Amino acid sequence: MQTTGQQDTYIRAPIVVVLGHVDAGKTTLLDKIRGTAVAKREPGTMTQHIGASFLPWKALEEISGPLLSQIKVEIKIPGFLVIDTPGHEAFSNLRVRGGSIADIAILVVDVQRGLEQQTFEAIDILRSKRVPFIVAVNKIDKIPGWKSFPNKPFVESVKMQDEATVLKLEELLSYIIEQFNSLGFRADRYDRIKDFTRVLALVPVSALTGEGMPDLLLVLAGLSQRFLLKRLVARVAPARGVVLELKEEVGFGTTATVIVYDGVLKKGDLIVVGGIEKPITTRVRLLLMPKPLDEMRSPEDRFIEIDRISAAAGVKVIADGLEGSIPGAPLIVAASEDEISRILEEVQAEVQATRFQSDIAGVVVKADTLGTLEALVGYLKKNNLPVRLADVGPVVRRDVFEASLVKNIDAKYAAILAFNVKVTPEAREEAAQKGVQIFTERILYRLVENFLKWFEEQRALER
Ligand code: GDP
Repeated sequence: MQTTGQQDTYIRAPIVVVLGHVDAGKTTLLDKIRGTAVAKREPGTMTQHIGASFLPWKALEEISGPLLSQIKVEIKIPGFLVIDTPGHEAFSNLRVRGGSIADIAILVVDVQRGLEQQTFEAIDILRSKRVPFIVAVNKIDKIPGWKSFPNKPFVESVKMQDEATVLKLEELLSYIIEQFNSLGFRADRYDRIKDFTRVLALVPVSALTGEGMPDLLLVLAGLSQRFLLKRLVARVAPARGVVLELKEEVGFGTTATVIVYDGVLKKGDLIVVGGIEKPITTRVRLLLMPKPLDEMRSPEDRFIEIDRISAAAGVKVIADGLEGSIPGAPLIVAASEDEISRILEEVQAEVQATRFQSDIAGVVVKADTLGTLEALVGYLKKNNLPVRLADVGPVVRRDVFEASLVKNIDAKYAAILAFNVKVTPEAREEAAQKGVQIFTERILYRLVENFLKWFEEQRALER
């Protein structure tokens, strides 16, 4: 642990997320990064999916070689913590008081397709959470020979090969510049970024062949060390984290994957976690990390127990009552019993800001996690659509009852938007009887789209 000179603090690894349109190559890119991490066999390096992979600095040095030494820094970051699940939904759960615990994002764009629907959405989300990003322009292996113009900027050399692609790239470039500006990068800072990466933070890569991956990691490291250090100061103190997901593991029951972004989490710690009924106060029974593949003796022998973990890290937490916790909710360690009531309030306030009920005539929103609920309510607000009830969990009769009350006031809002959750048979039956519309979907924007289509039809009927 490299200290910052101040006592009891250290520089943690930046938390990196990967976003982009479907099929742009997010999963392939993550596999490539994880493959690199696994090959290095560092402790804590993930061989299996537990939500996040740690890529140590040593691995970066090996990948990027002499390039890395060109970055002049006083303090080195220890590596990167890369969130394994790509896409908006996983990103949504990295939430903390209106912001994100993600420090930087990789926005993956298909070089031949340029800006696509989910590229715009990803940029919107990153902007609203004020998370800086670099663009991985992926699948450059499909543009043969672009490298044979080494002295030309990337866009120029693509031009030599493929006019249609270059038009998409130029559109992408000007759009990204606009977004960088609106993210509040000051002009002088922005120029430094531009200078550093030559063509903005636009890095040509092939997630398939690995070409450009050293450069991508180098740019990430460079930007993190130049611009993110202040954010990366973590304390040697009781931990703060976010529940990323809940998962059943053979032999362990329900485990909560937690991303620790500050402090140190220890076995036996007293923790408060946002829960479905109310916040859960419990003690950490076990902390688990995945075992390197070649140390596994059987398929069940997948984890190693650890005593403590410092930020930033992904870890599986086992404790009584965690099955009632909500993905996207905070996990905060109480240093003593005296602190519990203050922390309970803090956790509750954060959960309640997202789950709410009002008596206005608006739609009912149900989602699988706090993060997706927040994202969904955000979409609706952007479209000036009021929300009556926002909650986590399956669609139940109470939800239909709420929507049916709305029907009497303003029928075009008598709808339930359900993201990635079940609808109970009783709720479905009741909805059919009461004439309440239920929209279910596993893709956020499509859910809003489907609802909006229906909503406009209802509006047209009113006239
Ligand atoms: P995701 O939906 O963004 O996670 O995209 P995937 O990683 O699943 O990739 C979608 C498709 O593009 C798959 O068939 C990949 O093999 C392919 N693909 C991903 N990266 C590259 C690349 O760099 N070059 C080429 N030629 N194909 C790629």
